Order: sequence, then C-alpha cells, then structure tokens
Amino acid sequence: MNALPPPRLEGIDQLQSRAKKYDLECVECGSLIHPHSFNFNCREHEALVRSRYLSRQINLFDLPGLWRFFDWLPVQNINCCNAKPITYKSRHLAADLGLKKLFISFSGYWPERGAFVKTCTFKEFEAIVSLRYAQDNGVSGPLVVASAGNTANAFAYVASVEHYPVILVVPKRCLCDVWVPELDPAYVKTVVVEDGDYADAISIAKRLAAINNFIFEGGAVNVARRDGLATVLLDAVIDIGALPQHYFQAVGSGTGAISAWEASLRLVGDGRFGKRPPKFHLSQNLPFAPMVNAWAGGRRRIIPDDLPKEKNVLDLVFARVLSNRYPPYGVAGGVFDVLKATKGKMYAVGNEEAERAGKLFESREGIDILPAAAVAVASLIKAVESSEIRPNDVIVLNITGGGRLRLEADMPLFEIEPNLTVSKQALDEKLKWPSLLKLKKD
Ligand SMILES: *Cc1c(COP(=O)(O)O)cnc(C)c1O
Repeated sequence: MNALPPPRLEGIDQLQSRAKKYDLECVECGSLIHPHSFNFNCREHEALVRSRYLSRQINLFDLPGLWRFFDWLPVQNINCCNAKPITYKSRHLAADLGLKKLFISFSGYWPERGAFVKTCTFKEFEAIVSLRYAQDNGVSGPLVVASAGNTANAFAYVASVEHYPVILVVPKRCLCDVWVPELDPAYVKTVVVEDGDYADAISIAKRLAAINNFIFEGGAVNVARRDGLATVLLDAVIDIGALPQHYFQAVGSGTGAISAWEASLRLVGDGRFGKRPPKFHLSQNLPFAPMVNAWAGGRRRIIPDDLPKEKNVLDLVFARVLSNRYPPYGVAGGVFDVLKATKGKMYAVGNEEAERAGKLFESREGIDILPAAAVAVASLIKAVESSEIRPNDVIVLNITGGGRLRLEADMPLFEIEPNLTVSKQALDEKLKWPSLLKLKKD
C-alpha cells in the first residue's frame, strides 16, 4: 500500500477554467440526463441517475475541507464550509478484534485528529454540496428537506452559514435530536409533523414544496447529496492508497452506501487504486430492519412483512436515524444492486449490542460516537466472530457520526424552534406557506 504517488494537488486558480465537469446518466440505460434543478429522472426508467466526471482520474485540489475532492463534485464553485471526513488506522479497536488493517473513516467532531464536522455526521457533506449545487443551478430557494434528525441539523447549520433558505420537515418524535452549533433563523424554518414518522415527513415535505412552488431536494436521488457523501470513501482510499476489501456502514436510507459504491466505481475507473470495489457490509438496528429482511429473503422489493408491526417504532430503536420505511433499495442502482454486485452482507443489530459496541469504540479509540455508528461497529464485531473477514483484510469502518459530547464541551449548541406544526394528514390549506414566516433570500 501507498506504493502509488499521491495524486497531484491543484490550486484554486484551476477552478475558473473548468466549465463542464460532469454528465448525468441513467444507471439503467446509460442515456444522458439534462438535470432541471433538483429533478433527477430518466425519461424511460425508474432508476437512479448518477454523475460521470470528465476527469477519469481524480485531481486533488489544494482547497479547504471536502473541496479537496472538487474534481468529483457536481458543482462549479466552492463555498466557505470546510468540513471533511478523516481517515486513520485503528490501533486499539483493531488489536481487540485481531485486525491488522482496520481503517476508520470518521465524520464528526474530533479536533485532535483534524475532524471539524460541527453537526457531527456525514449528513453535513450532503448539505454542503446540495446547497452549493442549488446556487450553481440558480435555485433561489427555499429548499425543502425532510429529516429524522441529523439531516436537519446539517442543512440548518450549512444554510445558516451560507445564507441560503431552507425549510426542514421533521417528525415530532425526532425533534429532540435536532440542534445546531450556529443558527440564523432568517434562513431556517422548521415544520414539525406531530403524529408521523420519517416517511410522513417526506410526504409532507413533497406536498409543501409542490403547493408553494418550493424545491424538494430529493433525498437519495439527489446527485449532489450522494457525491457529497462519496467523499468519505474518496478520503479513505486516497489515505490508504488503495481500495479496501471491506466496507462497513449502518444504513437507514442506504444513500451513504450507494454513494460509497459509486465512489468505488469511479476509483476503479481511475486505475490507480485497484481493480475491485470493496464488499459491502451494511447494518440496521432491530426491530427496524426492512433491508436486512428483504435481502435475507432474496427479494428486490421490501414487503410489509419486512417492516416492524409496532406503531411507536421510533421509541423502540437506539438509532432513530436508521428508521426509513421506503429506502432506495430495489431501484436500479440502489442498495440491492450494491449488495448483489459486491456479494455483500446485511446485519441486524439489537439495541444492547449496539450500545455495547459504542462503549467499546469510545473506550478503545477515545471518542464518543452516535448510535448509528455504534450499529456499524457491532456489525464489524459480528463479522469478525463469524470469520466473515480475515485478520489481514483491508477494512474501512465508516463511523458516520461522532464527537457530539466532545463538541458540547467546546461550544454551546442550540435547539431549533418549530415554526409550524402540522398533522401527517394535513390538508393542502394547512400547508400553504404563511406569509408571516418570511424566508430571507440573499
Ligand atoms: C443518516 C445516518 C446514517 C444512515 O445513512 P443513510 O445514508 O440514510 O443510509 C448513518 N449514520 C448516521 C450518523 C446518520 O446520520
């Protein structure tokens, strides 16, 4: 490893000269798509649309944060956000598990290691690139975003810093997970769905956008979100010098895993990092594990039986951000295809197992991690126990969020006040944006 010379660094003066950087193509038929703001649809197929960068080999830019990977981001310019994922080789957890080449990708706040993601999860990369994409495409806002927690934090923070208007739609049960290190209420409004879960929040967000002529940001189909998340694997591979053999992550929508898969395809195409994408090891938190169940049943479709029967499921899971009822699993280019292409594995992790794994990680690596990341750690432990991975394998463990306690010790955090509360069955009338709640536009 590290036999390859590091890719060369380019400076900011290179930015202006790059007019067209990428095409968008349908994963199913390969036809080119002409995006119209946040509509990413192939005319013929219900499939994901993905970006294809004109630079087949990635040039690294001498720019702050994730803009280092500007070459493979669907934007024409940068903004002032400087967060990025970091990668390091684990010593203590690796030794505990008997692993020789365990690399940790960490998206969160951990100043001692140079990690400054102030909303503490990889959702911040989605928000940074999406808002930049919106500006590039002349979307004057507001952008409507549905969230079960961490996405709301990320968009609220980046919108505040970038002065770009967003409307967040959050289930009431998740509101306690919503906080920011910095808030400009002129740019951030919050709608609470009092009786619904994440799927209801998505449906309200779509209706709110349609009724008021706002833009719904699209979730997993949004290429800017996925390519922002892809920086996690780019950072890890460039740091390691090669593609890993295994990739571990906890999934809710699966967007992060699809993004890592797309990044690994690009890195294979680059030619300098190896020929084979990693095997994907994805995990969910019981009793909420629709993708685990569908995959175990060999099905491309999630059926009602794959979902938990309990009504208050958000109260039953440790990692609430993983509770997505309609993930892009079966769609072409989605999670099922990623698992199939990499002979992947899915893991169901109980609350106690996850909590134990989270504590183990904290005591060994020296930083607190979020519940979803603890689910991924638990899946790695399971994979070791079942000899799914070997001691010398090169592994990337995606710690999707952490350092929240570390952040709290460094700065005050603010809660977000709801501006509007609606029911999941709200009539259109209730979703007309009140003129009193004026959103600032720059
Ligand atoms: C959202 C989230 C996940 C799951 O990511 P998906 O892209 O929705 O699968 C995992 N960990 C953390 C910390 C998250 O916020």
